[in-house]
Amino acid sequence: MGIFGGTFDPIHYGHLRTAFELVQALQLPEMRFMPAGNPPHRDVTVAPNAQRLEMVRVATEGQPEFTVDDREMRKSGPSYTVETLAELRHEFPSRPLCLIVGMDAFLGLPGWHRWRDLLQLAHLVVAHRPGWRAPGTGALGELIAQHGTHRVADLHDTVAGRIYIHAVTQLEISSTEVRNLIGAGRDPRYLMPEGVRRIIHDSGCYARKDLAKE
Ligand code: ATP
Repeated sequence: MGIFGGTFDPIHYGHLRTAFELVQALQLPEMRFMPAGNPPHRDVTVAPNAQRLEMVRVATEGQPEFTVDDREMRKSGPSYTVETLAELRHEFPSRPLCLIVGMDAFLGLPGWHRWRDLLQLAHLVVAHRPGWRAPGTGALGELIAQHGTHRVADLHDTVAGRIYIHAVTQLEISSTEVRNLIGAGRDPRYLMPEGVRRIIHDSGCYARKDLAKE
């Protein structure tokens, strides 16, 4: 099972295409989108939880492997990835778990709560994003040397403990840029599914507050 966490503020085709390519390349029976509730190592989100969740639900509809898990949003207080993985590991003792992270997120891994425990609970699948390169030295370089694999089969033969780096089609889209574009009054069409664009349009959740009517 793939676990794709993020703030998804909003979800866009960079996320969806990455998830889809990983499902296919790694033969994942399920890809769980897990929107973060109250991210401990990031700024607070812009759109309310319910709306981010709704956008993820709408965006993932119709792709059978895509599922949505809102457990982190239902928790009060910060939710740490390591704790979420421990819960999933408890629920699925014999299923391989693949935590999906972009290369930018992977490079920030040493800042995560109990980051060294993550590999005891899950595999790490690192999706190359535009402009990022795998570290060859330092703590992460060592981690890759120790746990890295190029074999998809390794992700199925064991339930945790490997790092797999996979290049995905490079779509230079980020939620921050999408929000900025909308804030500047421009249309995010074709950067995200139409249903997501509609929610953003109808709710005005990323409109510049000083321009918002009502
Ligand atoms: P922000 O602009 O606020 O940083 P984001 O677009 O990176 O947002 P997140 O919700 O933070 O979106 O991302 C969730 C995960 O998806 C992260 O692991 C991130 O690296 C990855 N990701 C985001 N955008 C892309 C993209 N265009 N291609 C591949 N992976 C991406």
